[in-house]
Amino acid sequence: MILPNDVLNIIENLESAGYETWAVGGCVRDSLLGLTPKDYDVATSCPFAVTNTLFPRTVKTGEAYGTITVLTPSIPVEVTSFRLESHYADSRHPENVLLAHDIITDLSRRDLTINAMAWHPKRGLCDPFGGKADLQKRVTRAVGDPNIRFKEDALRILRCLRFASELDFDIEINTLESIKNLAPTLKNISAERISCELGRLLAGVRPQLCALAIEYGGLADFGLEHIKQPDLLCRIPDSATLRLAGLLWLSLDDKSASKIQSILRRMRLDNRTIHKVKSLLSGLDITLPTDAAALKRKFSILKPEIWGDILSLRSVLLNEDNEEIYQLLSKISGQPWNRSMLDISGDDLHDMGYDNRMVGEVLQALTELVLYHPELNTKDALLNQAKDYNSLKDKISEGHL
Ligand code: ATP
Ligand code: MG
Repeated sequence: MILPNDVLNIIENLESAGYETWAVGGCVRDSLLGLTPKDYDVATSCPFAVTNTLFPRTVKTGEAYGTITVLTPSIPVEVTSFRLESHYADSRHPENVLLAHDIITDLSRRDLTINAMAWHPKRGLCDPFGGKADLQKRVTRAVGDPNIRFKEDALRILRCLRFASELDFDIEINTLESIKNLAPTLKNISAERISCELGRLLAGVRPQLCALAIEYGGLADFGLEHIKQPDLLCRIPDSATLRLAGLLWLSLDDKSASKIQSILRRMRLDNRTIHKVKSLLSGLDITLPTDAAALKRKFSILKPEIWGDILSLRSVLLNEDNEEIYQLLSKISGQPWNRSMLDISGDDLHDMGYDNRMVGEVLQALTELVLYHPELNTKDALLNQAKDYNSLKDKISEGHL
């Protein structure tokens, strides 16, 4: 394993101060898989308070858990004192974080064997739980007895599914059995943490694994108890938001806006995601327009930029072939569809002598006109039409645009 110099320097610094120090967790796993680690975590026998004094630039990111972030010229590195957590009150909070004296004890409290390996620049790999063999077998397996480990912290259930989805792994059989039995204890975990892991699970290559969490009662608090055809999820583009919309579509009998809103709120998602998922689901629920003007009219509710996603969801979930509407979308791209896109303003109409009440009415009629004739969206053409407003009004009411 090749560690970046800044990480090596941190390890050497702690070791020369007399503390055993290893690179641990995700960076070891990813390196063994031939992937570039996203970040580097370091575990050390050095107590938190001492680590803080050994480096000039640090941030106390997780004091309660003995974690400090060391800022280096290249990357921030999380340095955590060896930990031992043995007693959990409610599948959630370690009662108190006890320090361990050795790396093996620290690794033993980690979630999965593939995440419970350490690397030392001189001593090499430390793999007491068979993580490397599990990487080769391509399985996610709890460290130790899965029943005990999942009872300590139910989030590990979802993490196990999440890593299996991200890495395209299977779940080791005893670990799977335990997931089935203990999924309902996910109710003890905060909605934010569940949503975060669920999002990563959905964005992975096996999003259908969410069905295990759902069918065994892990997401019942969100109102999700069954899912039909979970295999469809992997055909949706690999975005957590799109696949979450797909998951809701496949799981809910009642797909009303208020039901969806309440589930998304319970999931504690941010407003932007909530808005997007709601728009995607409402886009699944409409009859698709067949001509350009009707499509542009829909843009006031479903903005043009969301239509590509709506159509890709529809093709998977409704089994539609949307070739024609894709073509229509690209043809009308950039064309005006609301008042603010007109090449004329209310002031221009005031200057022509229209009063306030009429200005709104005329702008509305001109918007209607350019839905059918985008080529007329020039100042001159619109002023001409505004001069002859009565005839425009007649054409609109007769449907002769
Ligand atoms: P990635 O950052 O790609 O998600 P990672 O392995 O770094 O992967 P983190 O969530 O950052 O995952 O956690 C860092 C390490 O901490 C893990 O590799 C694992 O050893 C340990 N860990 C994280 N969460 C838990 C948990 N709930 N129970 C036990 N160990 C955990
Ligand atoms: Mg990480």
